[in-house]
Amino acid sequence: MNKAEKINAYRGEFKNTFREIRETHKLFNYFGKEKRFRFRQLAAELLLLELEGDFNNKIFPPLDLKTLIFGIKKYEKKISKNKLRFFNGNLDYIVESLNMLLGAFKMRDIISFYLLISYLRHKRAGNQNLKNELAAFAKDFMQKLNLFSIYDTKPPKEMNRKEFLLYKSYKHESKIMTTANSFRNRLDIMLKEFEKQNPIIIRDKKRLHDIEQKRMLYFRQKGMCTECNKSLDFTRAEAHHEIAHSAGGKTDDLSHSQLVHSRCHKRLEKRLKKIKLLQ
Ligand SMILES: [Zn+2]
Repeated sequence: MNKAEKINAYRGEFKNTFREIRETHKLFNYFGKEKRFRFRQLAAELLLLELEGDFNNKIFPPLDLKTLIFGIKKYEKKISKNKLRFFNGNLDYIVESLNMLLGAFKMRDIISFYLLISYLRHKRAGNQNLKNELAAFAKDFMQKLNLFSIYDTKPPKEMNRKEFLLYKSYKHESKIMTTANSFRNRLDIMLKEFEKQNPIIIRDKKRLHDIEQKRMLYFRQKGMCTECNKSLDFTRAEAHHEIAHSAGGKTDDLSHSQLVHSRCHKRLEKRLKKIKLLQ
């Protein structure tokens, strides 16, 4: 029996979940014929990366048979509903951002993109445009990856040497495929490339508008106060949240935040209070 057939022989919640995901999630519509439970194995691998991955420190489980069986046993009785919802959300992101490209992906690249998407959704502030960002990034990344073969020693004419070596190391890492280091290195390479096109600001749940987020808002507003449209001194600017914390607004949601002058902030709050009273 191969790995996929071996893990398929187990019972329990983890097994039920990866079987159900494989049978119901639209992600699997994009692939060709399934050979010997290979897609069930992919669903199991992605699930294990989500449940056992430490996205803060980028430490991921190896996807060898032993670790998959460990996961099957650990989650034999129960898997957290929140984690499953997040997991499903990541799979939706894969489909909605990569869609037609998916048929040409190798399984190992789907795993890499899964890690990238989950990492960004776990860690990054301001994911409002993530689907479009991923769609553009995937086209670019996959094109570069397929410009040359792993045996080539010289960069293709479309690529400089530095880029060539980076993508070549990704190819090597993804060929190894199942070690913890391989996942971390692949994710780091993808993040590095993704960041060339898109800012990655790590959100800070504890502090109110961490300095990096404040800087992001500042440049997004082109250094102007959104209240009076006059230029703003960065160090003295104040963050205003459209939805107050007391009403459930999140500090890490940049789409509902703006930077304003201190005096404008007071005026703004007063006006909002008045509107509220009238309602
Ligand atoms: Zn102002």
